[in-house]
Amino acid sequence: LIAADHVCVRFGGAEVLHEVSLAVKPGEIVTILGPNGSGKSTLIRALLGLVPLAHGTVSRAEGLRLGYVPQKLAVDRSMPLTVRRFLSLPTRVSDAAAAAALARVGVEDIGQRQMAALSGGQFQRVLLARALLSEPQLLILDEPTQGLDQPGEAAFYQLIETVRHQTGAAVLMVSHDLHVVMAASDRVICLNGHVCCEGTPRVVSNAPEYRALFGLGTRGA
Ligand code: ATP
Ligand code: MG
Repeated sequence: LIAADHVCVRFGGAEVLHEVSLAVKPGEIVTILGPNGSGKSTLIRALLGLVPLAHGTVSRAEGLRLGYVPQKLAVDRSMPLTVRRFLSLPTRVSDAAAAAALARVGVEDIGQRQMAALSGGQFQRVLLARALLSEPQLLILDEPTQGLDQPGEAAFYQLIETVRHQTGAAVLMVSHDLHVVMAASDRVICLNGHVCCEGTPRVVSNAPEYRALFGLGTRGA
């Protein structure tokens, strides 16, 4: 659906991404994992065509329908706005479509609530609901569980799996905790400016490159 081929991104003199290649196939859930500043958001933005590439290419399936939840929202969370109205930004949607999207993420009854009054978990679900409005074939989620506690994160990723199952959408998401995304990921890509290692969550959790990146030491040592 979407692919990066030997992508390099530079800000000023600094190379933030070096020769990064990846591809997301229909229906799969891929997680990009890496510490703060490792280039995860930059990679997402490069895939979306939002930052210029110094080298390499990005390709997308023709007519790809894409839903995106950025790490930093363009909308102020404390803005006086109901959930229903938020779902109509920037493109108006029907009541039926809004209700269906909220139902998909398990919060059908909060349409008339103020955005500012939502819990962290409800807020992230509303963002997901809005991303689902375009019936995407690919969902791109940059740290979709920010501000949630561990049970909240686990519940959210379980929801992602359900959404994938029900809609068939592929998911490319960003996280910095392998354990909370483990059950929900088909494949994990470990990023530190370049791709350190990748594979199934189990393979990555045992990879020395992953363990070194997160300062975990060697298994069994
Ligand atoms: P986090 O886990 O904190 O979200 P990240 O892995 O998403 O981090 P990025 O936001 O991609 O990291 O940033 C990678 C590096 O690129 C950082 O050093 C950051 O300061 C730098 N950077 C990101 N965007 C820009 C920009 N627009 N201009 C200059 N430097 C930038
Ligand atoms: Mg980021």
